[in-house]
Amino acid sequence: MKKISILGSTGSIGTQTLDTIAHHPDSYKVVALAAGSNVGLLVEQALAFRPSLVCLAERADAEAARLLLPAEIKVVYGEEGLIEAAAGGDADVVVTAIVGSRGLPATLAAIDAGRTIALANKETLVTAGHLVMERAARRGVAILPVDSEHSAIFQCLNGERRKDVKQITLTASGGSFRDRTRAELSGVTVAEALSHPNWSMGAKITIDSATMVNKGLEVIEARWLFDLTYDQIEVLIHPESIIHSYVEFTDHSVIAQLGVPDMRVPIQYALSYPERLATPTERLRLAEIGKLQFREMDYDRFPCLRLAFECGRMGLSAPTVFNAANEVAVERFLSGAITFLDIERVIETVIGQHTVSSVPDVESIVEIDAWARRAARSI
Ligand code: NDP
Repeated sequence: MKKISILGSTGSIGTQTLDTIAHHPDSYKVVALAAGSNVGLLVEQALAFRPSLVCLAERADAEAARLLLPAEIKVVYGEEGLIEAAAGGDADVVVTAIVGSRGLPATLAAIDAGRTIALANKETLVTAGHLVMERAARRGVAILPVDSEHSAIFQCLNGERRKDVKQITLTASGGSFRDRTRAELSGVTVAEALSHPNWSMGAKITIDSATMVNKGLEVIEARWLFDLTYDQIEVLIHPESIIHSYVEFTDHSVIAQLGVPDMRVPIQYALSYPERLATPTERLRLAEIGKLQFREMDYDRFPCLRLAFECGRMGLSAPTVFNAANEVAVERFLSGAITFLDIERVIETVIGQHTVSSVPDVESIVEIDAWARRAARSI
């Protein structure tokens, strides 16, 4: 029985993780749940899964939850509470499903406590990949990818020698606006941007998919997870999201991982690894699909992806700035303060204002992240 702690249990990945766990009550036990502000759903989840601890972002919400939960469930809140959910108790696996770089301290605490990380929160690897991977290696902790593309690459690399890898290809659905020209992007609404053709996800990642920032974050995530150079990472548009990603080896043999788009499959694999368990997802029937399409990535149409590669190659503090500026730009777009095309302008302007510093430690990352957020708000 694996003991699981879920950070971000009320979100898209969090709820799908609980759904996955509910299908295998004999294999998993939920020991901690952490959410932001959705008290009602967190309480419902706690009553159904009976963890020993739950966490909310604010004290008032934690007090409200306390009144609705049995006394044996400990209720904590804030950054300290989140770290307790990640690193206290006796979880075997911590699912990091919070959005944004705010997930970094809890992820580092979980690593220090020796927990296996099922990593959905890609922003933590983008903002501090060198620190996360170095600590995980030192502590002997596995970082298992939840992102479907990275789970695919992870599965393709099973039993392979890293030196035999020529390159990896991350597939991209193209997001909500894949068939629109740049001219057609001015004036698009928040509702249009939130309507993803293949995946039902949280708001931030859905916007990131439309701008292709998400693929950029994934490129940087892949660099760290699989210890690759940026020249070894390629992105290809694949509208159907059936081939989740693939690896080309030095002999030009290619191994791909396929399946219907359903996050419960990579979530399950990260939880059950190295075993495979049944999932409630539909089976892949290629004859019914008939045709799969692929298109070369257009870096003029999607400049945020070009920018992500540039920041990744610059390294040091550049990815932290890219990520933080994007988080603020997306928030501002979602609140109606800026237009869709302003997102890329904000990111580009903030990066232009930043002087890349030496390899940042945790404190410098927090400072640089805060600076980039202030800069992105002031544009
Ligand atoms: P959602 O917006 O759906 O969920 C975010 C979760 O984080 C919610 O549970 C939210 O709680 C919680 N949260 C927010 N603030 C805090 C806080 N201060 N303390 C604790 N919890 C907090 O996001 P997704 O599930 O879509 O994405 C989560 C991560 O997974 C992201 O990094 C994303 O890039 C990645 N990912 C997502 C995929 C998907 O299919 N959705 C696919 C691959 C990766 P509340 O709602 O209660 O405020």
